[in-house]
Amino acid sequence: MNHRHLLPHEIDLLVDGNASRGIAALRARVEACDDCRAQYDALRRVSDAVDAVPHFMPRLRFADAIMRKVQVMAPWHVGLAGSVRRFISEGAVPRRLILTGAALMGVAISGAAAWLAFRGDLTGGTFTLALDQTREGMVFGVTQVAVHALGTDAITTLAGGGRATLAITTAVLAAATIGALIGFRRLAAIAAMHRS
Ligand SMILES: [Zn+2]
Repeated sequence: MNHRHLLPHEIDLLVDGNASRGIAALRARVEACDDCRAQYDALRRVSDAVDAVPHFMPRLRFADAIMRKVQVMAPWHVGLAGSVRRFISEGAVPRRLILTGAALMGVAISGAAAWLAFRGDLTGGTFTLALDQTREGMVFGVTQVAVHALGTDAITTLAGGGRATLAITTAVLAAATIGALIGFRRLAAIAAMHRS
């Protein structure tokens, strides 16, 4: 007898009542073979049992109740940002004072960077050496930023001499300072919006 047992997906098709072409042939093979019929009947019983299970609906706010008991680990910077936001919105410290401090810090950092970049005439052994290395690293870093922002060709054209590199450094630092100030102003506006 030339019989091939049904494959699992073929039994699935039969149990699902799939009405595709060839389903009659599959059914005929089930009728003709005890093994295939046993497989089909077993899957049919499971399918019927699953269909008979009542459909449950979780009660309203079920997910909320679960999530209240779950400890969600947030990255430290998210937590810090949240604390700062709460701190500002609760008015624990006058908002203007915080934002002024933040702006001053931004300016101070940019200023220190500019000072380190240009202050080449300091004396004093290893301190000067360390400072030189910092300065070189900073000029290189800023130049890299400029290269990424403006493209290599523009920088090569501009940077005919060392003076051009310094000019680019100045421009980038100035842009960074202005960007920081704009950012802080925006922060202030957002904080004000949340308070009102
Ligand atoms: Zn068979």
